Amino acid sequence: MDIKKKKRFSVLVTAGPTREKIDPVRFISNYSTGTFGYEIAREALRRGCDVTLISGPTCLKAPRGARLVEIESALEMRDEVRKRAGRCDCVIMAAAVSDWRARSPEKGKIKRPGGRITLELEANPDILLEIGKKKKGVLIGFALETENLEKNALAKLKSKNLDLIVANKLTKGKGLFGAGVTDVTVIDSFGRKDIYRRRTKRELAEIILDKALNFKI
Ligand code: C5P
Repeated sequence: MDIKKKKRFSVLVTAGPTREKIDPVRFISNYSTGTFGYEIAREALRRGCDVTLISGPTCLKAPRGARLVEIESALEMRDEVRKRAGRCDCVIMAAAVSDWRARSPEKGKIKRPGGRITLELEANPDILLEIGKKKKGVLIGFALETENLEKNALAKLKSKNLDLIVANKLTKGKGLFGAGVTDVTVIDSFGRKDIYRRRTKRELAEIILDKALNFKI
């Protein structure tokens, strides 16, 4: 019997921080918990999508049904995204990729110095910018800003060739990383801007998926 399987809408989500090794026991990273990306992956699964989740180290449980790809560094994340992005209908880059890595990580544990030591850093590739150049499906990025939220988000939307950008502002005293509610501004490539206040990441995941699935039509 020739039963043709209908291809499910495929979503690639990146989440969490990356870790950039300094030596075998130390690394540079950031405060990302991965919550947002995991909520997006979970919401995509609820909607019947085929979901690949490329994740940096987090304490979260992977959503059941997702294809979990665990990575540590930005370069590892880049390899996995490059391998898979072209085959997906939608790529959502929620990961907090470290902008720098140690130029030459030490093979052995660095001994405690008497005084100062200097760590030389080099820039990591901008993965989103790279895949934006040969984008096929819907491409969504995130922007965390401390000032000029909309102006910077709009510039990133354009320079990275995105369909949608989800921007939030880091405000003193307000939680942003992890659970809890947050304010976001979502801007699309048609210039539509929506502001959502005090929403949970699950609610925002629903909003983002609604918009992502609308783009495919
Ligand atoms: O330019 P900025 O780092 O603020 O852009 C954030 C967006 O770019 C996020 O979607 C993030 O996942 C992505 N990014 C990336 N590679 C980097 C830095 C950020 O893909 N090296």
